[in-house]
Amino acid sequence: MEYNRLGKTGLQISRLSLGSWLTFGKQIENNIAADLMDVAYEHGVNFFDNAEIYSRGESERVMGEILKKRDWRRDSYIVSSKAFFGDGGQLPTQKGLNRKHLVEACEAAMKRLKVDYLDLFFCHRPDKQTPIEETVWSMHNLIQQGKVLYWGTSEWSAQEIMEAHMVAQRYNLIGPSMEQPQYNMLHRQKVEVEYSQIYKTVGLGTTIWSPLASGILSGKYNDTAPDATRFSIEGLEWLKEANLVEEKLKVIRQLSDFAKELGISMPKLAIAWCLKNENVSTVILGASKKTQLEETLTSLEVVNKLTDEVMEKIEEVLGNQPQHPTF
Ligand code: NDP
Repeated sequence: MEYNRLGKTGLQISRLSLGSWLTFGKQIENNIAADLMDVAYEHGVNFFDNAEIYSRGESERVMGEILKKRDWRRDSYIVSSKAFFGDGGQLPTQKGLNRKHLVEACEAAMKRLKVDYLDLFFCHRPDKQTPIEETVWSMHNLIQQGKVLYWGTSEWSAQEIMEAHMVAQRYNLIGPSMEQPQYNMLHRQKVEVEYSQIYKTVGLGTTIWSPLASGILSGKYNDTAPDATRFSIEGLEWLKEANLVEEKLKVIRQLSDFAKELGISMPKLAIAWCLKNENVSTVILGASKKTQLEETLTSLEVVNKLTDEVMEKIEEVLGNQPQHPTF
């Protein structure tokens, strides 16, 4: 495994990490979740990603049980939670980035994960209903109280991230250290263009999500519709409809042919492509089977096959390179 600094922090995060969205406490049995964490940890993964909303708290509960059973040294891993959506409650006080919910969400996540502090705590989405000052102060105070080590954002605009930094500077508070955006071959604008300045100015770290675009970039949907995947989970029809579209599959078929020429499997090519971006601190992997994770965890080994020439060819096939503004 290789490790990166998370943005300008001194925290060393593994370049590949493991997330639990849709899998832990939902799609997979708890013993499979434990196998996945074992495989990841044995490969040097030190970051496990979670959120209050994942399976409405159940994902954190399952991860907490595994962490307790394994009894790994607390200084050997990084664990996160994210607040905003709540853990299922529908009352107005049970969500958002206001002080009440952030404090309560942090306490609840620590309890479910069975840890004394969260290494990373994310604001899962921006909250138009809460002044940014309140959110920054709340996160700063959680850090001062020793309940959180680093705080960050997820799917915030560059402007919103900078507003948080301006507030932090004005009051001498700790600002956000990292952002969790979607990033993969089919979804590039935020990471490649929108944040391009703030990597340099505030030293933003990124923990990127859905590197396989929910699995379609593995190539397994190219010609067939395999069952028992996340797209067959009841209630996730929206995810299937957004992803299993002919336009995307057409591109992925061409990419799969190219991957074959290179002698790299399609999942590894897609992950290695994300790793090539120097502004990506860690790629959060998702898996519903041990074999999937065993495959993607070896993606670092093929990054050196992605030469400039190969990247250019990939760019040609993708045909979606985001443009930087020229003014
Ligand atoms: P991916 O896009 O990589 O999708 C993972 C899924 O792809 C797996 O669960 C599996 O699905 C399939 N897959 C994985 N490896 C293989 C393989 N080798 N061959 C074939 N299929 C494979 O990542 P996720 O969408 O799961 O996101 C990763 C993490 O990012 C999440 O767990 C979460 O922690 C975080 N996240 C954060 C969000 C945010 O808003 N901050 C939003 C979404 C995710 P299947 O069971 O269908 O085979």
